[in-house]
Amino acid sequence: MNDDRKTGKQLTTETAPQSAGEQYRALYEKAKQQEELYVSLLNSSSDAIVIYDTDRRIMYINPSHTRIFGWTLEEARGNRLPVVPEWDRAETDIIVERALKHGIPCSAYETQRYTKWGTLVEIGLSASPYYDHQGKLAGVLVIYRDISARKHAETALRLMSKVFREGIDPIIIADLEGIILDVNDAAEHTYGWSREELIGQPFNMAIPTDCHDQVNELQEQCKKGAKIRNVESVRYTRAGRTIPVLMSLSLLTDDKGTPVGIASIAQNLTDLKRTEEQLRDRTKALEQSNQELEQFAYVAAHDLREPLLAVAGYLRMLERRCGKNLDDHGISLLMRALDVTSRMDALIGSLLAYSRLGSETEAFELTDFNLIMSKALDNLRSTIEHLGATVTHQPLPTLMANPSQMVQLLQNLVGNAVKFVRERSPVVSVHALQGEADWVFIVRDNGIGIHQSDLPRIFLPFERVHGRDEFPGTGIGLANCKKIVERHGGRLWVDSTPGEGSTFFFSLPDRPCCAIRSEGNGQ
Ligand code: ADP
Repeated sequence: MNDDRKTGKQLTTETAPQSAGEQYRALYEKAKQQEELYVSLLNSSSDAIVIYDTDRRIMYINPSHTRIFGWTLEEARGNRLPVVPEWDRAETDIIVERALKHGIPCSAYETQRYTKWGTLVEIGLSASPYYDHQGKLAGVLVIYRDISARKHAETALRLMSKVFREGIDPIIIADLEGIILDVNDAAEHTYGWSREELIGQPFNMAIPTDCHDQVNELQEQCKKGAKIRNVESVRYTRAGRTIPVLMSLSLLTDDKGTPVGIASIAQNLTDLKRTEEQLRDRTKALEQSNQELEQFAYVAAHDLREPLLAVAGYLRMLERRCGKNLDDHGISLLMRALDVTSRMDALIGSLLAYSRLGSETEAFELTDFNLIMSKALDNLRSTIEHLGATVTHQPLPTLMANPSQMVQLLQNLVGNAVKFVRERSPVVSVHALQGEADWVFIVRDNGIGIHQSDLPRIFLPFERVHGRDEFPGTGIGLANCKKIVERHGGRLWVDSTPGEGSTFFFSLPDRPCCAIRSEGNGQ
């Protein structure tokens, strides 16, 4: 203003007098320049600005309005835009009416407005009435500030404080001197002190004295930036009870990253510890009852064998002494009785072997499975030759295992693989694949296979799927194999297609530094 006046003075003193036309043109130019200045100010604002006339029709919107709400100046000019949500109509009408009729401005009204795309934007609204050169109300200038980011931050903060307040684990927030600033509901509930009682007290209040050093040390580490996660510790309740907890500490910082406090989350382990204890007790009881059962089976089998051997002895004596007095039918009955006693003896022998597997303490040693395979094949040599079977194996690993049980395992699996074949020569292959933490052995045959529905029961003691007349056996072999593999920490399973063959798999843990691949052979 002063400059203008100064300029005016200069004009009257230093320039020649102007004509009325020239004065009008100068004024016009000045007004135009001012208008351009205002428009450029409105255009450079990052807030959305809209100018309404008294009829609430849009006269102007700035580029930020287009950016936030989508409509262009051409689309908006002379129109009303559908930006006001139904629920905000009444309030908006009041604001506009107060501005247009009574010249009362409104500032910082927080609400939502629709965009051209139908989405809602969080905004802060101010409305200022403006006047024409005669001082008459000419319309209202509305500024919308996009406050979505702030609203989202507020929502996130509200949610976080809800998570903090209602979280299941007790949380205590303390300042860097260890004075409690806040606690959540779970902390009140677990420790027994109210929030008011805890705030302002030393953090160690809910920690038994003998754990103070541990917690202080962890807090110091946390202040230096160390991540303290799931450390076992103990807490103390108002009632004097101690609670086992899993503690995690987080360093809290302000906006500039300066440490301001520590949050301590202590997961109550009381129930978990109780469950663990119950589980341990139950496992112990189960192990004991298993041992007793195995012992019982062993004793029963052992005691059954004696009278059985006596019966077999008497039958043989009967055959020797009275055989010539018996007719063919009598001899046949005697032979069948002897056959049954020897089958029962085999069954009892299997039961003894099965129960012995449980009572023996297995000695594990580095075991070369190529040698194990050779021993198993040696034991099966006459059967393999008799059946004309081909058994091959790839190089097998060396693992920690009990060698004699491994011979028994592979001998059973290969023995079955050559046995359960019809109308073709048995072909069996054995190889092993290294997994992430174990080795999987694979025994594949071209035999009769097993129906899907029978698969689960073949691993149970004395369960057989195929007839004894065609394929001899007691049905204990796979039960033994399962027990051996499980006692080694592995698994035994099978995949089979009737008429095409079966593939038995067993896994053994690859204990560190104990699996060394070595050369194998074929047979
Ligand atoms: P056994 O060989 O003495 O009968 P096992 O416990 O070794 O007893 O096997 C149980 C049953 O599983 C067998 O009777 C047989 O029906 C089935 N079986 C086992 N291995 C095979 C195989 N490789 N192919 C087909 N059936 C098999």
